[in-house]
Amino acid sequence: MDEFDHTNTPFGIRNRILIFALLVTLIPSLGLGWAFYIQTKKLLLEKVELELHNVINQAQREAVLWFKEHTVNMRVFSNSFVVSENMERSIELKREGSAEQVAVTAEILNEYLVLVQSQFQEYQRLLLFDDGGTVFAQSSENRSPLALPDNWKEQLAQNKIVIGEIDRNGSPTKATVLIATPVFSPKQQFLGLLATEATMDGLQSVMESIAVTQSTHLSLLNRDGSILGSTTQLTKKAITTTAFPESDSLHRLYGNPMVLSTYTSINDTKVVGIFAPLPHLSWGILMEKSYDLTFAEILKLKNITLSIIALLLTFIGVAAFFLSYSILSPLRQLVKGAMQVAGGDLTVQLPVKNRDELGFTITIFNNMVIQLRKNRDQLEKLASVDSLTSLANRKHIMDTLALHIKRYARHKAPFSILMTDLDHFKLVNDTYGHLAGDAVLVKIGKIFHKTLRSIDTAGRYGGEEFLIILDNAGEQEAEQTAERIRKAVEDTEIIMDGQIIKVTLSIGIATTSDTNNMDNGKLLIGLADKALYRAKQEGRNRTVLSGNNLE
Ligand code: GH3
Ligand code: MG
Ligand code: MG
Repeated sequence: MDEFDHTNTPFGIRNRILIFALLVTLIPSLGLGWAFYIQTKKLLLEKVELELHNVINQAQREAVLWFKEHTVNMRVFSNSFVVSENMERSIELKREGSAEQVAVTAEILNEYLVLVQSQFQEYQRLLLFDDGGTVFAQSSENRSPLALPDNWKEQLAQNKIVIGEIDRNGSPTKATVLIATPVFSPKQQFLGLLATEATMDGLQSVMESIAVTQSTHLSLLNRDGSILGSTTQLTKKAITTTAFPESDSLHRLYGNPMVLSTYTSINDTKVVGIFAPLPHLSWGILMEKSYDLTFAEILKLKNITLSIIALLLTFIGVAAFFLSYSILSPLRQLVKGAMQVAGGDLTVQLPVKNRDELGFTITIFNNMVIQLRKNRDQLEKLASVDSLTSLANRKHIMDTLALHIKRYARHKAPFSILMTDLDHFKLVNDTYGHLAGDAVLVKIGKIFHKTLRSIDTAGRYGGEEFLIILDNAGEQEAEQTAERIRKAVEDTEIIMDGQIIKVTLSIGIATTSDTNNMDNGKLLIGLADKALYRAKQEGRNRTVLSGNNLE
């Protein structure tokens, strides 16, 4: 059976149904899911972009305000009369070479700076630089000197203000920055710079409050990517070592200010970042928000969609399995049945379980097998039946006789044979025609059929001669049957074309008890022939027993 079982091949019906079901499920659900996902993501992205824009704008505003406040403060002090007059005088005194007087003016300025500084907690110290950039006076003497940035002259020419590098003072939380504004004489002559070393705590706490409420991280970055300040603990630690974020993303962020970008940040997490440069400064604010947190909704949506698809796939897969089973099971039955028929078994009938196309096919198969069986039976019959009389043909009657002989040899089951021959049949043909002769032969067949038992066999031995085998019949019984037949024929009238035809029959009887030497049928037929011959000789229309006294 297995060699014909194609249901488990890779391209079998089951696999084709399964693949079809999976494709039918996957293509629309993935397609729709994908379209839905993309659309939702786009909407969410727009929403997030708007939100982040608002936050970074707020942060940017706060940073700008912070600088502006200090710039304004510095301008006010640098424009004060005390500063400009004393600086102008000290320049004059320097030119005159009066060092003592210069020291006096410097002392006056120092005191002024101490006074101002005492009113502003955010100022670590205040300093005055001369027009060459050298410290001239400062509010706290014992601190290491604070230098102006190298490009202070350019900055001054461009922005009328000088902003130094952020000095972290060895700790990310104690960052300070130098902010300096020019000092002019009443005649608008450039005298020097008033500078402050301002702590960035104020800016830091504003940024932190924004970051906390928006669950985001804000960092102040220099152009080279170094971190000047940050609201996250992690980044704070990294401040002294790492440029941030990695250079590709940094370029992208700097190149596209205020545009959302997704990348892996310093702590190896995926973030959404946006960068806002600060005007007139080489700094900018970088805002970063965890990607997972930002897109939590979309991740949830993705998971739900995938779960639904997985559920659908399971359901459809099971349904496809049962569908393929309902098709393959009757198909297997059909294949099995067909193979039985091919092997010659025409008794096969398959059970019809479903009233569908396959059930219909099985019904047709069953009918086909029934028809085949009928045809075979008919063929078998045709091969053994005489077409005119419907009695056994010569071959069949001789086979039956051989069978009886064999049985007799084994079981000594007695039987008799009758050899019959129509009397003067030639005359019948001559008088009424050959067709009438045929009709007589047909009638004789019917008489035999009617007169004999079902266990007896009558066959056409040749022409108008018939051989009858009487099963389980001894001499006496055989003679009675022969007489009954003879009488029946004698009494029969055959009407043909309005003419009445009557015929008679001569019968020779032989029986197994006649001889002990029954190795073949020829002997028995010979005995019956001889008896028939005698019947003819004794005047026809009679039965003659072979007996033992035959010559
Ligand atoms: P007898 O009493 O001695 O037997 O005389 P008979 O005329 O019957 O002689 P015989 O047996 O020799 O003749 C047989 C005839 O039967 C010859 C043939 O024309 C006829 N016959 C044989 N077969 C058929 C047949 O199939 N149809 C018809 N119509 N006639 C047949
Ligand atoms: Mg004859
Ligand atoms: Mg005859």
